[in-house]
Amino acid sequence: MISVSEARQLVLSHCRPLPNCRVDLTSALDLVLAEEARADCDIPTMTKSLMDGFAVQAGDLGPEQVEFNVIGQVVAGRVATQPICSGQAMRIMTGAQLPEGADAVVPVEQTDAAGWTDQSLQTVTISDSSIVAGNNIMPQGTIATAGDSLILSGTRLGPAAIAVLAEVGMARPLVYRRPRLAVIPTGDEIISVEQSPGPGKLRNSNGPMLTALAQQAGCEAVEIGVGRDDRQHLREFVSQGLQHDVLVLSGGVSAGTMDFVPGVLAEMGVQQVFHKIRMKPGKPLWFGIRDQADRRTLVFGLPGNPVSSFVCFHRFVSPALVALAGSETAAGNNERIPLLNPGPRIGGRDTYWPAVRRVDPAGNVGLEILDWQGSADLCTLSRANGLAFFPADGKRHEIGDRLEFCPIL
Ligand code: AMP
Ligand code: MG
Repeated sequence: MISVSEARQLVLSHCRPLPNCRVDLTSALDLVLAEEARADCDIPTMTKSLMDGFAVQAGDLGPEQVEFNVIGQVVAGRVATQPICSGQAMRIMTGAQLPEGADAVVPVEQTDAAGWTDQSLQTVTISDSSIVAGNNIMPQGTIATAGDSLILSGTRLGPAAIAVLAEVGMARPLVYRRPRLAVIPTGDEIISVEQSPGPGKLRNSNGPMLTALAQQAGCEAVEIGVGRDDRQHLREFVSQGLQHDVLVLSGGVSAGTMDFVPGVLAEMGVQQVFHKIRMKPGKPLWFGIRDQADRRTLVFGLPGNPVSSFVCFHRFVSPALVALAGSETAAGNNERIPLLNPGPRIGGRDTYWPAVRRVDPAGNVGLEILDWQGSADLCTLSRANGLAFFPADGKRHEIGDRLEFCPIL
């Protein structure tokens, strides 16, 4: 059996970024930019006022009160029709282009212009000697000059980056396509969420959980339906699933007489990369790839137990989705947090355990290991905000020991 880190490396070595496409800015959130964003003009495009007030020549101001002739006004979106000369002032609004000749703006609060919006205002008196050239204006190109590189290719787009693309006119940026994922929960005992479980049955909790995990990883996800423990039926579902970038099945990958998933995947041309890993929960994990003409599908057979499925998705499928979406997947920089209670006894497998990262009123961070009943215990998992990682080093971890914490929210 291979280790968790070997399995992760194998998965990532089979991931290559999906083809590029153009999208509207309204659908670009969390996608990865596949081109560089450059300024197509200076930012700002003109020297502009940062205040409502009067554009003047700062050299006219002194310790004494100075009276200026008001020669007009300029508002945002317009340009002044005449330049300013010494002794003159022009009423100016925030965001308006500074008139030629002016080199500073005196905010209206620092003038005597009580009725300053009155169009007939002839003069304004200013006694502020602290204002010098360049005050309360932003010169053209302060933030960037035309041609500057603003956002590098490979950047995941958040709201502010999307705004920068808008600012430089990139209405349809080139991005890596969003991965598309199909989910097939399997098992004859699985009934739909709407039904009441009769003897031997249980509701399909994996389907909605795996769909939600995929969405959390920025992926489009569809649930094809619950696969029966029947080869022919599974083949039909798998062939639909192979039309996606990623196919995730749950259940049917262990050593039971009805565990048909690995066999069916092999029959359908999916090439096994590994089966079974030294991890708890999640030992039966199966991973393979299927290359078709223009598409590679990554196929994950997750164990049926819900928490095993969750942990396998979180540790292996999510990083694969990040890589398909064009991002670098950085490993091993998780926070290490001191335990608030003793850890469980760990056997010979690397173990993930539901845990709560707590912050006390003094700001100290601690990790509470939850009382978890094993891989069917979703309820405890739902109260956790992450997984504590216990390496299979045979140690019993005590209060204060620092453990790696993988956030899940
Ligand atoms: P399997 O891996 O098929 O042997 O399933 C292991 C356990 O997970 C069994 O107890 C199943 O009933 C349970 N299980 C399998 N699939 C699901 C599902 N979609 N939702 C909830 N539990 C499941
Ligand atoms: Mg089963």
